[in-house]
This record gives sequence, structure tokens and C-alpha cells, in this order.
Amino acid sequence: MKVVKFGGSSLASGEQFEKVARIVTGDPERRVVVVSAPGKRFEDDIKTTDLLITLANTIIAGDAYTEAFEDVLERFTAIVTYLGLDEAVLSDIRTKLTERIETYKHDEDRLMDALKSSGENENAKVMAAYLTKLGTKASYVSPDEAGMLVTDEPGNARILPEAYDHLYRLREREEVLVIPGFFGYSKENNIVTFPRGGSDITGSIVAAGLQASLYENFTDVDSVYSVNPNLVENPHEMKEITYREMRELAYSGFGVFHDEALLPVVEKKVPVCIKNTNHPEAPGTMIVDNRVPDKMPVLGIASDKGFLSINLTKYLMNRQVGFGRRLLEILETEGISFEHTPSGIDNMSVILREHQVQNGKEERILSRIRQELDVVDVSIERNLALVMVVGEGMARTVGVASKATAALGDAGVNIKMINQGSSETSMMFGVDDRDANLAVKSLYHAFFPND
Ligand code: ASP
Repeated sequence: MKVVKFGGSSLASGEQFEKVARIVTGDPERRVVVVSAPGKRFEDDIKTTDLLITLANTIIAGDAYTEAFEDVLERFTAIVTYLGLDEAVLSDIRTKLTERIETYKHDEDRLMDALKSSGENENAKVMAAYLTKLGTKASYVSPDEAGMLVTDEPGNARILPEAYDHLYRLREREEVLVIPGFFGYSKENNIVTFPRGGSDITGSIVAAGLQASLYENFTDVDSVYSVNPNLVENPHEMKEITYREMRELAYSGFGVFHDEALLPVVEKKVPVCIKNTNHPEAPGTMIVDNRVPDKMPVLGIASDKGFLSINLTKYLMNRQVGFGRRLLEILETEGISFEHTPSGIDNMSVILREHQVQNGKEERILSRIRQELDVVDVSIERNLALVMVVGEGMARTVGVASKATAALGDAGVNIKMINQGSSETSMMFGVDDRDANLAVKSLYHAFFPND
């Protein structure tokens, strides 16, 4: 049994629905379909999810919302009309949206999640209706019916372990099941969405719960590229990548697969295939537990901006028991999570996501560190980008670091920080965010000289 997930661009229009239906019906093992909301049809188009967020915000602001409501409906009207589906499909969407607004209009957070999730929810119904029209036995299955139990924090759902057993029961169903991505239901019976881009997470949870033989994630690229294709022409296409490599690259800016989506499939060891809805014949990229090592030590290079580093100096730091804990405790009490902690003999840095340190927090953190830890010096360095070089083969290859630093040096990129985890699957460089793209390009050319 295969679980197939289609992203927003794969379902943006009636034409795209036709392609999706051909893919689903072309393989009898494709029994469960997870869908996103209709995405962008062209560069400047607006995703349905964003239209729904605008609608929710308009209602929350107490403004007239007819126009925002009709903007959402228009996206579904175009699809339903193109596919020649029954008028009732559209009137049901109108009724459902109106109902949700009425039910939740006095609770901002719940209204936001109820509307935000409607793009996926209604799209799943449209897909089930279309497959049925084509003569395929298909049903819409709501996350509630599927047993997608999640935590209750609006916009930040986490799956609850019992959901996997509930989902397993769907194996007994014989028809094609269409499940909306991006949200689940909490024990309090609230609709709760995953973080943005979370339909990948649903797909992965469903594939893990059903113990699928494969999770096919259809998007709009032929494969995962070794570097952002907007930076390098014709970049290397990956045939295979391990879960670990994908996790590292997703963390550092690879948008092709949501980083939180890996955990469920990793735990159940379900292989993932990233494929292109617009070119389904292409083999795609397999994400697997282990891969046969090839000659290339590096598989991917990525960068992500928006980090800052707290740099502090304290003599004999290494002899003070509990110093690191007390430093991290200050961040903990400020509600801040950290990313990395590179350190030297008498100094230590803590790298964080910049957005967490706003609204006066910077001054408070610095003065607490000065007072509570009695440091010689502490400062914050903003505008940091992390550039990640990833590949399982790096562990067996001598000279990767020297090649990388030489490439960065030749390109005139100043390295502010180097970090390598014990797994040796990745090497991380902190650079000024203005240098991030140049750093990625120069590293790519150093490690992929033939592409
Ligand atoms: N539609 C949601 C979003 O735009 C979820 C998804 O597409 O994965 O974030």
C-alpha cells in the first residue's frame, strides 16, 4: 500500500486535478491520498491558505469580510467548474465555511485554525468527488474519522502516539481514501493545524500509521537537487538521500520536504519518494534509511538566514562546574530554544534563531549573563547565516574541511564559526548573511566540479 501526498501546486487548478487523478488511478497500490489546499497557479498568485488567513484576520478585526470570503470560494469554483462536478460540491463548501465562521467567530485562535484548515478539508472533498466521477471508488475521510489525534496548541499541533493505531485501522477500507493534510483534532475536539507547510507532516503520519510500503510526496520538481536551483544552473539531482541527510538539509533551508515530516516515517522506516506531478515518469528522489555510498562525500549544500550568536568570554570556564547549564538556563527562563553551542577554551557561543530575541529581550539577556555568570565579555552578533555541507560519505573522506574552507577563502567569504557534529554527516559554517549565497555557490562548485 502506498500513501500519496500532493502539494498545493499539484492541486492549484482543474488541470492539475486531472494530472493527480491520472497518477492515483494509474497504480492500484496508491490507496490513500493526502491533499494540500489549492496553491499558486502562477508566480504572483495567492495560496488558498493565505486567502483563508486573510479571511480569518478580517473577521477578527471586525471588518466586512464578504470579499475575502468570495476570494476563497472563487478558488474552489474554478476547480469544481473545470472538472464539471455537481453544483452541490460548491454549495457545501460555502455552507461549511459559513458554519465554521459562525461557530468560532468569538475565539480568534480557534477561528484561525478552523479557517486555515478549510483549504485542505474542502480540497479533499473535491478530490474524492472527482475520483468518484471518474468511476473510482473513493471517499473523503476527515482527520477526525481517521483518528488523527493531536495536541491542542493552535497552529502548532503535535501528533499523539495513539493516532498511529487509529490510522492503522484504515487499512481495512477498500476504496481510495482522500484525507486532508495540515491538521488533526485534539482530545478537546478542536481543529488544530500543524505549522505552515504541514500537509507533508500529515502524509508522513498517515504513511507511518498505515505502515505503507512507500510514501510518495508529489511536488513540482523532478527530484531533490543538491543545491538551491535558483542559485546554480542545472544542479546535481539526487537519486537517493538518507533520512539523516534530508533532516540536516531540511533544517538548513531545503524547502522541498518539511523537516518535521521526517520523524514519523523514520520511526516506522517507511521509504519516501519525492516526485513531480507534472512529470510523473521521472524516477524522483528516494529518501531511505541507508544508501550505498558513492564516490561523492557531499550530497547537498544549503544555507539558512536569520540566526544570531551570543558570544561570551570567561576565563577558566572549563573548570567551572555547571557554567554551561546556567547559561542555557537563562535562555530557558526567557523561553528561548538554542540551535548550537560552539565553544573554545575561555569562550562559548550560543546560536539562536534571531526572531526569538526581540522586544527588549536582547538587553535583558545580556545583563543577566553579565551579572549571573560574571563573564569578562558578552556580545550579540546578528545577521548570521548558517551554511551546511551534508553527506554521509564525509565520515569516510579525508580533506572535506580543507576543501570547504579553501573554497570559502577563495570566494572571499569570512568564516565566523565552524561546527561539526559527532555524526560527521554535516559540517556547518557561520557566515555573514550577505555572503550566504556566495558561500553556497562556491562550496557547490568545489564539491560538484563535474555538474
Ligand atoms: N496549505 C498549508 C500551507 O500553505 C499546508 C501545506 O500546503 O502543506 O502552509
